[in-house]
Amino acid sequence: CGIIGYTGPLDSKKILLNGLSQLEYRGYDSAGAALCMENSHICLVRRTGKVANLKETMERITDVSHCGLGHTRWATHGGVTTQNTHPHQAGKVTLVHNGIIENYHQLTEQFHLEAKLHSETDSEVAAWVLDSLYQGDPLEAITRLVALIKGSYSFCIMFEDYPGEIYAIRNVSPLVAAYTRSGSFVASDLTALIPYTRQYFVVPEDHIVRLTSYKVHLYNLQRHEEMPELMEVNWNM
Ligand code: GLU
Repeated sequence: CGIIGYTGPLDSKKILLNGLSQLEYRGYDSAGAALCMENSHICLVRRTGKVANLKETMERITDVSHCGLGHTRWATHGGVTTQNTHPHQAGKVTLVHNGIIENYHQLTEQFHLEAKLHSETDSEVAAWVLDSLYQGDPLEAITRLVALIKGSYSFCIMFEDYPGEIYAIRNVSPLVAAYTRSGSFVASDLTALIPYTRQYFVVPEDHIVRLTSYKVHLYNLQRHEEMPELMEVNWNM
């Protein structure tokens, strides 16, 4: 229901929690985050209920993280449980998803995923499909995933081999991105970015963004880089 990704010099825990609080108005039943720690290990924190519950658990993490993903979930496939809360991890892939993957049953069979799944979500199926398609090039794997999945979605993704980078893709679900001196951001809603920047861009449908700590790159599904159309926020909050 709400997603946010951040990579940069600041403490990602704070940014993700702030962002998720800003996204709370969209409604949700659980919240989670994945933090890429300084040793590149990915730490998963997931709680049902309010962002305040997630905050309580995240505040106990003392190690620093400069890159991470956050999610507030509105359950569509699978009950409101910790196992079903995003982020989902599959092999080298960690992701959060907004929307619905309509053909997840068929993909579960096609990729023989039944025994691998830890949750009842359509999103975890997409994570395993992406991991199966991944051969070292995230952009290639994402474009192959897009060709296979049906539905409405935006994803924010971290690949174990690329610590400090975040990939995001959208088709119907909204996604905005920004790069600033304080790092790079992607979120389902501008309200999560407003505290950090006035300049942003709307990720066009069927486009991929790649965030590094100082830049956001935009690609089409042919994997050609495009110039984002930057916009200014001209209202006050
Ligand atoms: N379909 C996914 C789920 O049920 C994502 C729902 C959402 O957009 O929050 O977990």
